Amino acid sequence: MRKREKEMNEISPPPYAGPPPGSPEQVTAIIGELRRLYPDAKTSLNFSNPLELLVATQLSAQSTDELVNMVTVDLFKKYRSVEDYATVSQEELEKDIRSTGFYHNKAKNIRAAAQRIITNYGGEVPRTMEDLVTLPGVARKTANVVLGNAFGIVEGIAVDTHVGRLARRLGWTTNEDPVKVEQDLMRIIPRKDWLSLSHMLIYHGRAICTARRPRCAQCALVHLCPSAFLVS
Ligand code: SF4
Repeated sequence: MRKREKEMNEISPPPYAGPPPGSPEQVTAIIGELRRLYPDAKTSLNFSNPLELLVATQLSAQSTDELVNMVTVDLFKKYRSVEDYATVSQEELEKDIRSTGFYHNKAKNIRAAAQRIITNYGGEVPRTMEDLVTLPGVARKTANVVLGNAFGIVEGIAVDTHVGRLARRLGWTTNEDPVKVEQDLMRIIPRKDWLSLSHMLIYHGRAICTARRPRCAQCALVHLCPSAFLVS
């Protein structure tokens, strides 16, 4: 029995027989499945204006959205304007965001971004990728999140750790660098799907295609995924 079990475990999965990774056929089928699974996928960060989303997204680096949402309940009551962040002391802001981790750099960047918004953008969070990435602590991922979710402007695809991992497993990129992953995705994903795809991949990455142990046997994308049963 033991020998038989060992032999069964050693059987390799059948080779991938789905549509070519990155082909319109595969991409369309995957997006269709994800829409069916996660029809209401959206950002899980709580916010009520662009400034709040900018701050929440900066706080979410190396943290979880749940934790950030707990912190921002009080933070957004205390800091209501860009001036509030621009004038608070480093120590006080650090204290208010401490539990999200990396609080020293986050506080430094949030204060500096608020000061730059006042000095260069008339106190309003800028609405272009070009301007947003000039803010301290804001790279393309954060800028895409703010543009897409606060302004409804889609200039790219927000690539976080889940999106990057799933893009590689689905055969859409071989790159690790988020900016290169984003470029690869923008070449093969229809623009109308850029915003929702990012949310849906994050949902799927949390629920099924986890970093350490993807649950391929329960995955609706199994027939479309060249990495099915190959990630250990
Ligand atoms: S089949 Fe496996 S590796 Fe592919 S997306 Fe699903 S869980 Fe991830």
